[in-house]
Amino acid sequence: MSTFSLRKYRRITVKIGSALLVDRSSGLKQDWLASLASDIGKLSADGAEILVVSSGAIALGRTILGLGRKALKLEESQAAAAVGQIALAGAWSQALACNGLRSGQILLTLGDTEERRRYLNARATISTLLKMKAVPVINENDTVATSEIRYGDNDRLAARVATMMGADLLILLSDIDGLYTAPPARDPTAAFLPVVERITPRIEAMAGAAASELSRGGMRTKLDAGKIATAAGTAMVITAGTRLSPLMAIERGERFTLFKPSNHPVKGYKTWIAGQLEPSGRLTVDEGAVNALLSGKSLLPAGVKVVEGNFSRGDTVAVLSRDGHEIARGLVAYDAADAVRIAGKKTAEIETVLGYEARSAMIHRDDLVITGHTPEDGISHAQTA
Ligand code: GLU
Repeated sequence: MSTFSLRKYRRITVKIGSALLVDRSSGLKQDWLASLASDIGKLSADGAEILVVSSGAIALGRTILGLGRKALKLEESQAAAAVGQIALAGAWSQALACNGLRSGQILLTLGDTEERRRYLNARATISTLLKMKAVPVINENDTVATSEIRYGDNDRLAARVATMMGADLLILLSDIDGLYTAPPARDPTAAFLPVVERITPRIEAMAGAAASELSRGGMRTKLDAGKIATAAGTAMVITAGTRLSPLMAIERGERFTLFKPSNHPVKGYKTWIAGQLEPSGRLTVDEGAVNALLSGKSLLPAGVKVVEGNFSRGDTVAVLSRDGHEIARGLVAYDAADAVRIAGKKTAEIETVLGYEARSAMIHRDDLVITGHTPEDGISHAQTA
């Protein structure tokens, strides 16, 4: 058993929450940013590639514009983001430059990771930045993202970026130091979990729904991020970002929760499918189909019991077991209307029902990834990696 060290990781995505970087009255927390940039400098000097996913545009824009605590309309928060982002990117660029590092700003909208062509394009740009030894500083493009087309929280955005770039570690710097058996603000008996082997339904139930005022996240979106990351073979760490030098604090032994990566990570094209944030539909399947999927087979119409959602052929859908747990995700071979018509039908009947010769699988195995877990414990108490 070896001890955990950040220095073992070669490509690390670090996500910074708004509350860590921005103080409501005084604005950007310069000293804290300088300490984090110095940590990034140390890890880079050791040969690691670092990607930064930084929140704070809206919070900083609010402070600069003197908007106080008032609730903002969509266009006001978009305007605040426009003002805040330019200052945020400037601050990152300067702080990293003080450590001899170049940086480049990347602003993403949901479609940049959810549409395959744009995903490949974003990946090529970020890879090139890394090759040029510039630290990508990434945020959601809040000035154009409206509710239907936004990630909404940078935890999932960071997980999507980490898996897209094949990072081996995702660090979520947060206002909480890790995962507890229950939200500790509400339950003083909650126990800290140093290691999570797998994010099972039991682990998810520990998250509660808490979110702090400045960030949209909360433990729930952090676990969603963890599922995306670990499925693709990226380990995830949640730790407190509230202290100075929060990354070196991990090296000094301050506590954190480590979410271990899957032993059978999905690769390439399937990473993109597994990380899709908003599946367009849901197929509930019988037990025979669940077993077939778990043994690597395609999903046939015969095993599909319920079809929900208004999806088109090629969209991502979630596959659920009868008790409502997600088992898999995949690109569906039929539009929703046809999927409803052939659900439960034997392969031989499909042509008669549809009136055209069609493919036999509802989701072909090449377009399908297992995302669910058996509801086992998923907790271990030894902090090793
Ligand atoms: N993109 C938002 C911002 O920069 C933050 C989203 C989040 O806090 O997760 O203000």
